Amino acid sequence: MALMEYKYDDMIHRCFRCGYCKFPTDWGDVTNCPAYARYRMESYSTGGRLWLIRAWVNGELEWSENLAKIIYACTGCKNCEEKCPLSFSSELVNMVVAARTNMVEQGLLPVSVKGFLNNVQLHGNPYGISAKKRGDWTGELKLEAYNGQEYLFYVGCEGSFDSRAQETARTLASLLQKAGISFGILGPLEKSDGNEVEMLGEDGLFELLVENNIHLFNERHVQKIITLSPHSYNSFKNRYPDFGGNYEVFHYTQILHDLIEQGSLQSQRETKSRICFHDPCFLGRWNQEYKAPREVLKSLDGIQLLEMGRNKKGALCCGGGGGNFYTDFLGGSEDSPSRIRVREAVATGANILAVACPNCLTMLEDAVKAEGLEDELVVKDIAEIVHAAT
Ligand code: SF4
Ligand code: SF4
Repeated sequence: MALMEYKYDDMIHRCFRCGYCKFPTDWGDVTNCPAYARYRMESYSTGGRLWLIRAWVNGELEWSENLAKIIYACTGCKNCEEKCPLSFSSELVNMVVAARTNMVEQGLLPVSVKGFLNNVQLHGNPYGISAKKRGDWTGELKLEAYNGQEYLFYVGCEGSFDSRAQETARTLASLLQKAGISFGILGPLEKSDGNEVEMLGEDGLFELLVENNIHLFNERHVQKIITLSPHSYNSFKNRYPDFGGNYEVFHYTQILHDLIEQGSLQSQRETKSRICFHDPCFLGRWNQEYKAPREVLKSLDGIQLLEMGRNKKGALCCGGGGGNFYTDFLGGSEDSPSRIRVREAVATGANILAVACPNCLTMLEDAVKAEGLEDELVVKDIAEIVHAAT
């Protein structure tokens, strides 16, 4: 009998720490859990983490900063859910998130997680930048405010405030303009979609964000949404309907794929590049979209598309999920998953590592610098690659 009320009390004891969940789909490398890859300690693997959670909720283990770090080091990448053979496998990430919710309720959080949540609460973004500046990413671009156009382009927190992701957001907006898409943006009215807030276990703040966003979208009669980030895509597509927010949601690679198929965007310049694509967890394992980004790249003249050994369902997470792009529990080592991933990309012979997520973009760009691979590998968002070729 648990001392602390815990949502998965009837299930968590069923993990017997076989360790299958550390492997990728081809069983090729035991380090496909990014947290375990970084620390190589059982407590950072799925099974070890579940056993620690169980001990904590049963009162056998005291809360500590270290325990909280282990619980928050999970990126929510879902590799474990692909590999665990037990019937509860689809609940593995939920079990970790539920433990975080318990920590939030007791106010027992690592400082960086507290900072993330406070910033979202106060400013609507984790960076702590004034909400008034949210539309500044557009720079010289002339973009319309959303006012009933066919699509809302939801840029997200990274696209709005991270300088590198802002470039991608501008590039994508230009591409959409070039293809004649009718779209508008929310500018300073836009707020966090809540995906990472939910992953960090702050259910109350998540619900508040969702309800406010749904109110804003419905007031403006939004029907179709294009997202820059797969994290926003996931939240709008899979969580907002639970709160009555029903929209047609597209990740931008799906829109680019359609535009290329219809002939609205055409390859004009040969790119002559060897490219491998890093699957973002929130597009891939969370939403099974492996095709659109690859089809977009394959459609461009002169591109040779290569695959890393770990790809699609078996891809290694860059380490940025579940708020880790901000809290950085997996950084600072050559075993950081982003650094492992760029070494893997170079090994394919690729000179470009293509991404489709602003978190992956900054994580992997930083990793290229940390590895000293700047002369061998460039990280580019798919929108940038398409923009250069069309
Ligand atoms: S989560 Fe599943 S695969 Fe992983 S250790 Fe537990 S039982 Fe084994
Ligand atoms: S979701 Fe990813 S990081 Fe978290 S335990 Fe599973 S494999 Fe590891």
